[in-house]
Amino acid sequence: MLADKDRIFTNLYGFQPWNLKAAQARGDWDKTKDLMSRGQDAIIEEVKASGLRGRGGAGFPTGLKWSFMPKEPRADRPSFLVINADESEPGSCKDREIIRHDPHKLIEGALIAGYAMRARAAYIYIRGEFIREAETLFAAVQEAYDAGLLGKNAAKSGYDFDVFVHRGAGAYICGEETAMIESLEGKKGQPRLKPPFPAGAGLYGCPTTVNNVESIAVVPTILRRGAAWFSSFGRENNKGTKLFQISGHVNKPCVVEEEMGISFRELIDTHCGGIRGGWDNLLAVIPGGSSVPLVPAAQIMDAPMDFDGLKELGSGLGTAAAIVMDKSTDVVQAISRISYFYKHESCGQCTPCREGTGWMWRVMERLRTGDADIGEIDTLFDVTKQVEGHTICALGDAAAWPIQGLIRHFRPELERRIRENGGALEAAE
Ligand code: SF4
Repeated sequence: MLADKDRIFTNLYGFQPWNLKAAQARGDWDKTKDLMSRGQDAIIEEVKASGLRGRGGAGFPTGLKWSFMPKEPRADRPSFLVINADESEPGSCKDREIIRHDPHKLIEGALIAGYAMRARAAYIYIRGEFIREAETLFAAVQEAYDAGLLGKNAAKSGYDFDVFVHRGAGAYICGEETAMIESLEGKKGQPRLKPPFPAGAGLYGCPTTVNNVESIAVVPTILRRGAAWFSSFGRENNKGTKLFQISGHVNKPCVVEEEMGISFRELIDTHCGGIRGGWDNLLAVIPGGSSVPLVPAAQIMDAPMDFDGLKELGSGLGTAAAIVMDKSTDVVQAISRISYFYKHESCGQCTPCREGTGWMWRVMERLRTGDADIGEIDTLFDVTKQVEGHTICALGDAAAWPIQGLIRHFRPELERRIRENGGALEAAE
């Protein structure tokens, strides 16, 4: 279990005020100027050495991503940092905790990260539904300006840096980095074709890096305590601490900071009071937010909760939002509901996603009631494979993977429903 002295988010539960004074008492904004005086390349190297991988789901190495930004931005083409606070993935609820209880970690991180990548400003794009969180964030940014920590000569570092907070309107797809950039520009939030990647042509056509809230908020602590400290947690290629979010059928759902690679069993027993009805009552877990395939109970119990551990199980860490399902769950209905979500959130630009998500949901609904032929299970699996990897953005994959996980692990349950509905007879005739 992670010791309290090694926690980065010391006010995650809001036991203390979020404001600047309290944040400074917790160590935020402490000699920020000195951290920045190490120099831009040194900061990027330190973040690289820490092994930090993006906390928004994809897990791309953060320091490496920053290094793609131009070393000498042109005056007419400034660089930007965009911070993704859209957090729309069902099951994911960590960034909102950072914003409402520890916003200064994010704002200080924005300044340091922005400076390291030679950005002129950071735009924090916050999900529309996060009304109270946005209020806190606006107020915290204003506090930082009033204290001289942002703006001209930010934190007396000699560097000019602005932070803008931008509220979204509640579309899931705006969490995709290029859709977010479109939305920030005032357009419809639809993903762009890549390349060009945002580091080449992003916001307003300028070099841009898009990072998750947690990825940015941990940076000041990594610099203060050192890359070696951060990388002492977790396994090779899966370093550091991480905010886990556990929802569903556990006795005490929670958000908690833990070491990467903690076993699922330890995570649940230590922080969530165990599975509802005991471990024998566990059916399956969606370990990384609704878009990753579910993992059946027997496989997940002792699995390490990190990028590689869950990849080996055919799933993913995603945002580390574990949705726990006990044996009372109608797993087919649960996945069908997730399919409906992706159908609803498809932006409609590409045919496999626009048509495929609706088609997959309709078949899932018939599988839920058993009103299908056995052969349709394979047809559905084939269609998910034709959607996966054939779309502009990852929403196509996100719609395909939960269904693939269901068919891979719960085919007998699908067949049972069809048989009970008389479908097996039809198939046999
Ligand atoms: Fe839009 Fe779906 Fe295509 Fe993404 S995959 S661009 S959400 S239609």
